[in-house]
Amino acid sequence: MPRPSLQPGNHRMMQTLRRWFDTGADDTGDPSPGQGARVDWARALPFFAMHLACLGVLWVGVSWFAVVVALVLYAVRMFAITGFYHRYFSHRTFRTSRAVQLLFALIGAACVQRGPLWWAAHHRNHHRHADTAADPHSPAVHGFWWSHMGWFLTRERFRTDWSRIPDLAKFPELRWLDRYDIAVPLALAAALYALGEGLERFAPALGTTGPQLLVWGFFVSTVVLFHATVTINSLAHRFGSRRFATRDDSRNNLLLALLTFGEGWHNNHHFFPGSARQGFAWWEVDLTWYGLRAMSALGLVHDLKPVPAWVLARVDAGDKA
Ligand SMILES: [Zn+2]
Ligand SMILES: [Zn+2]
Repeated sequence: MPRPSLQPGNHRMMQTLRRWFDTGADDTGDPSPGQGARVDWARALPFFAMHLACLGVLWVGVSWFAVVVALVLYAVRMFAITGFYHRYFSHRTFRTSRAVQLLFALIGAACVQRGPLWWAAHHRNHHRHADTAADPHSPAVHGFWWSHMGWFLTRERFRTDWSRIPDLAKFPELRWLDRYDIAVPLALAAALYALGEGLERFAPALGTTGPQLLVWGFFVSTVVLFHATVTINSLAHRFGSRRFATRDDSRNNLLLALLTFGEGWHNNHHFFPGSARQGFAWWEVDLTWYGLRAMSALGLVHDLKPVPAWVLARVDAGDKA
């Protein structure tokens, strides 16, 4: 008997499901012109579902333990994004061992901002074309919402631009993380659920449960972390002061710098992206820089690239764009 063939609708659904779990399964070819720049709603579904899942706080309740877990996961993962996805993978502003590189690639992957290769390739394109039509996420060109959370939901931006990252693509473990970018987030979510279930049984005084840790530690923490990170694409190209007259609209913004552990000194960064430090003046709080200094003291990273003397001289002279 011939096997019943899949209906076209079912086939599309299976294909979408596969694409959620394996980015290499995208075998639908190049999008036709125009189509690639539109939001791919089927693929974007998990992104919106994560936001909806935050409403779970209404059912699972809250405990001090769950809030602390959410805050710790925010801090550790923000450091991985700014210190490693951004300052290490995208800009190579320091050196480290392959083991530490992998460890922070894994923590970065737990942020649900995809793999380090995809992230770095798009970010390098951002610096190359900042605030022109070729910039993936310029609020001046594409508007606030597009720069904040529209651009990466499209077919064309979903792809990793391999031409930008030959130095990173040679590591098979990083290529694997890029292809199966949903694996680490799923593992984190499962681990939080299991931890909460275990604590409910063995340490009931903490007042937490599996669903509660899943909602606070994974969904709430990750969604807040996501929106904090992308303010650098949207708000830090709009609001703040300009110390350097760069060709783009980048700004320095204390509030964003506090929220993102130093990334808010974005005008500094666009002026001189080659430094591991983004707060150029002593008072420009840059938590990631302090963290990298501590890791350097422990011998985990080395050759942190400093802000050059000629740039510091301009900071001291009170440069104002
Ligand atoms: Zn920028
Ligand atoms: Zn950058």
